[in-house]
Amino acid sequence: MRRIAVMNQKGGVGKTTSSVNLAAALAQQGRKVCLVDLDPQGHSSLHLGVEPHSDEPSVYDVFSGTRSLKDVRHLVSENLWIIPASLDLAATEVELVDAQNREIVLRQAMEKMMQEQPVDYIVMDCPPSLGVLTVNALTAADEVFIPLQPHFFALQGLSKLLETTALITRRLNRNLKVSGIMLCLYETGTRLAADVTDDLISFLRQSPPDTPWANAQVFNSRIRRNIKLAEAPSFGQSIFEYQPKSAGALDYGALATEVLAMEKANAGVDSDISTTF
Ligand code: ADP
Ligand code: MG
Repeated sequence: MRRIAVMNQKGGVGKTTSSVNLAAALAQQGRKVCLVDLDPQGHSSLHLGVEPHSDEPSVYDVFSGTRSLKDVRHLVSENLWIIPASLDLAATEVELVDAQNREIVLRQAMEKMMQEQPVDYIVMDCPPSLGVLTVNALTAADEVFIPLQPHFFALQGLSKLLETTALITRRLNRNLKVSGIMLCLYETGTRLAADVTDDLISFLRQSPPDTPWANAQVFNSRIRRNIKLAEAPSFGQSIFEYQPKSAGALDYGALATEVLAMEKANAGVDSDISTTF
């Protein structure tokens, strides 16, 4: 089982698009996948046709301790479940402030779900902030995937993100690794995209071996800018249902193949936790 947090504190970089379509691609390639929508805006839920209503069971109920993940998950297509968000989730940031063990609520809920109804992949779509919801995702995850749009400031933002993961690694989740960088909204054939990608690869190569991102790979599959990816959410469908022959479907399909190829390398890594944040 792999638990992947898709994280970037910036909005509009492709977190939701990548979470949904990577989850759908993995499901299509035969894995059981559960997508967890941790953004109060509920974009992943909407993308898969589930309205994030306040009166529907959602991940909010998991954080408030009234329901289990198993009780709130919806099967949206073969092998693919979603744990929807709701607008109430915005309140979770405030409500959890004084709670004990507030950083490990999601992790504990996931461990319970894994005993009752296991899946092969959990993909968490994080909100564009580094609040308690993102901290819960990073504490529950084994791996972080970072979507990046290759432009001039991308590397600066990345350093901040990597520092955050290092903090979580030290305090809450020793086994957390940044394992993948996904280049999204990629402008094929531009000098800038190619230069930023080269800089990124050499930056990662120079990272000290004891950092959580020392073995991060920049996925070879670049997610090209493709209008079909932007249209799919309004139909409540992943790109594979909406336009299975589009460049977007091709790119996310190839990305999933790379993600699956990492399985062997990851085998045998056990998780551990400490609660002294
Ligand atoms: P985030 O979750 O990081 O805020 P989104 O995945 O919602 O980012 O993407 C931001 C916007 O860009 C959305 O409107 C989305 O449909 C669009 N988008 C994302 N990736 C692509 C792409 N590869 N090609 C075209 N549009 C994209
Ligand atoms: Mg989003």
